[in-house]
Amino acid sequence: MNKKLRDAVYGLAIGDALGVPYEFKKRGTFECTGMTGYKVHGQPEGTWSDDTSMTIATAKSLKDNGGKILTHDIFDNFLAWKDEEDFNCNGVCFDIGNTTWDALATGIPRTDVDSNGNGSLMRILPLAFVDCTDEEIEEVSAITHGHEISKKACAIYVHVARRLLAGEKIQEIIPTLRYGKPFDRLCVIDRFEERDIKSGGYVVETLEAALWVLAKNDNFKDTVLTAVNLGKDTDTTGAVAGGLAGIIYGVDDAFARKCLEVLRGKEIIDRCLW
Ligand SMILES: [Mg+2]
Repeated sequence: MNKKLRDAVYGLAIGDALGVPYEFKKRGTFECTGMTGYKVHGQPEGTWSDDTSMTIATAKSLKDNGGKILTHDIFDNFLAWKDEEDFNCNGVCFDIGNTTWDALATGIPRTDVDSNGNGSLMRILPLAFVDCTDEEIEEVSAITHGHEISKKACAIYVHVARRLLAGEKIQEIIPTLRYGKPFDRLCVIDRFEERDIKSGGYVVETLEAALWVLAKNDNFKDTVLTAVNLGKDTDTTGAVAGGLAGIIYGVDDAFARKCLEVLRGKEIIDRCLW
């Protein structure tokens, strides 16, 4: 198996599962220090959510098609997750975003400016491991999230992941992320204080928060815990940051190994990787 792909997807799944018990909670009202269960979603310890399900559904399609991007096949996997409990560690789909639900139910993604939740960013990471164009990244976003902002966020994230895979440091990458609004803070994101970093469901907030926690920490544990402890969309911020943290640090240290011990559905994840 591709070790870096495994590190990335398991890093994402750990961040997701750490955040699930605290989703929607306000910053400062809780402290995540490791895997725990129940609370917000009533799920046992180590349960991952839609972020991981849709990531591995995407990875499985890439695996089945020799790395080729076939959006209809990825769509079919998403449907199998939503309707048939595939790609699910739980048997029940307990967490799905409205924009994703609508797109999967109708086959038509929303393209309006209010549909820029982080629902495509959270599942796009496997594309960093295949040879594909920005256009293809955007098409995969647009299976559910068709607005320019969501599509662009996915492309930026995949580019960052590829550069980390090539051995660049996050501190070197951040100043080069020069884009117009609403991505204009990315190139200086490491200069902001925690109070300036939002962590709700808006895709730009999630991308900013993930890059910020990566810049502010120097190991896997602190990166994913800081991401979750930002509050609000804890599982997705944890997943988006955790995927990149997995690439940088691997998931082999004591904290990550302890998390992996209780992470549910590892055989479901492994089936989707190559
Ligand atoms: Mg989720």
